Amino acid sequence: MRYINTAPDLFDAVVDSIRHHRSNLGERYHSERGTDRVTAGQLTNVGGATVEVLALVKFEKKVRYGQDDERTVQAGASAKCHGWGCAEPGSDESFGTAFDLDADTYEIAATAEPFVQAAREWAQAHAEKCRAQSYTGR
Ligand SMILES: [Zn+2]
Repeated sequence: MRYINTAPDLFDAVVDSIRHHRSNLGERYHSERGTDRVTAGQLTNVGGATVEVLALVKFEKKVRYGQDDERTVQAGASAKCHGWGCAEPGSDESFGTAFDLDADTYEIAATAEPFVQAAREWAQAHAEKCRAQSYTGR
């Protein structure tokens, strides 16, 4: 029987990232600030190197004296070219609305979509003209 690998659903991956972050709050090696990167696509440029589309989930924590800490989450995206010597190796990282970490998970995850679409378009346009090759030496 033939088996075709299906890419994981991006929306689910963003939802998992948020749930993972929440359930690990307070764990010893878990950082409360940082950005998770979920691969949302891979393209090949003219030189054969990979251009990667990334969905981003950024977590922040602001300590407020006399009040509870403020924890926020933002979904977004960027694209990155892995070509060696590429003149424009990545798009900007763009993020949507900052939500309270306790906000509705699906609502947060849905805000990634337009940014991922823009990153895919950047990646496609970049892949069509970039001639940087993959680094193969050691
Ligand atoms: Zn490039």
